[in-house]
Amino acid sequence: MEDFEKIIDELIEWYNRIPKHFEGSILGSMTTWPHEIGVYAYQLFMHVNGNDPILFPIVKDAEQYLIQTIGTLYGSRHGLFTSGGTESNILALLIAKRASRGKDNVVVAPSTVHASVDKACILMGSRLVKIPVSPTDPVDPDLMEKYVRDFNPYAIVVTAGTTEFGVVDRIKEVSEIALEYDVFLHVDGAFGGLIVPFLFKHGMLDETIYFHPGVSSVSVDLHKNGRAPIPSSLLFVRDEELLNHACFEMEYLPSGINCGLLGTRPGGSLIASWAVVKAIGLDGYEKQALSQQKIALHLYEELTKRPFVEAYKPILPIVVWRSRVLDYIELIKMLMKEKIFLYKSPSLKAVRAVIMPHVSESHVQTLIKALEKIHGWSGGM
Ligand SMILES: *Cc1c(COP(=O)(O)O)cnc(C)c1O
Repeated sequence: MEDFEKIIDELIEWYNRIPKHFEGSILGSMTTWPHEIGVYAYQLFMHVNGNDPILFPIVKDAEQYLIQTIGTLYGSRHGLFTSGGTESNILALLIAKRASRGKDNVVVAPSTVHASVDKACILMGSRLVKIPVSPTDPVDPDLMEKYVRDFNPYAIVVTAGTTEFGVVDRIKEVSEIALEYDVFLHVDGAFGGLIVPFLFKHGMLDETIYFHPGVSSVSVDLHKNGRAPIPSSLLFVRDEELLNHACFEMEYLPSGINCGLLGTRPGGSLIASWAVVKAIGLDGYEKQALSQQKIALHLYEELTKRPFVEAYKPILPIVVWRSRVLDYIELIKMLMKEKIFLYKSPSLKAVRAVIMPHVSESHVQTLIKALEKIHGWSGGM
């Protein structure tokens, strides 16, 4: 047994050793620094099992509030709180499979789909048929229709904000195909769920996330742009009955039923999400999304002024570029030495920065300076 003091010393040493979002070094991850009210709520409700709404009725209230509030963005009133985009995607496909009739054990998605859909299909024993698309483009609806016709899938997955590039698939057109062929359509808005509707509203995008008649489910991560503590996410469904397919009998529980993939689950992050969404509000998320996009466009403009890089114009606050001199893996390593952490966009052999809510203009300036230093550039701006 060790005494607390020694353990605390070690904890603090660990804490100091890792990067913190607010320091501006984390520029590639889709995580962010949680909102302070969420941190407070999380600590207060750490003991709450989100899987036991009889013992802790507040978990139902918190979940309902989140579904009603965030659901107004997509025109939905039914859904459930999950641990992340991965759980939401797995559940969406589970619901789709359990609800389907006369379909083949196949899921169709553009090749830009998130790896958690591959994971879901492995778990479900389903074949994932990927439609080859450029990493910078949405799927062509005509091609989608051909795949649906050829493979008779039980589900289609499209993405509103791909992880590598921020592409928003053509949800409305794909939803018409889903309706016509009676296929479950899941829209993965893990990253884009709290960005896309606002950029659309301001005319900065021509597609949004919405329960068009052919859309069956939508996911959105609250622990990404929602600024809730990890793990926090939502899965919305078109009809309440669909939720039954995400639930299982569990007789020993007071409620006798368990919904979602987890058993005992963190009620702390659910109630923290409730507090954070109340504190920020939809108007706050709107301002935040516009500000993120503004910083992303600014980073892009700065990059285009540097002849040593080749940058792509961002669709969402995800800025992708590559060096004209250095390999992208090499560039990531060199930036890491400057204490700047970026992620890869492997399909484009490029690096990407994600302008999360914690990223400020000054962090962008620091990144630009580091890039200039690495490339031995003294062009001066
Ligand atoms: C982040 C992300 C996921 C996975 O979400 P987790 O919360 O990490 O489980 C799924 N899809 C997309 C598009 C994402 O950006």
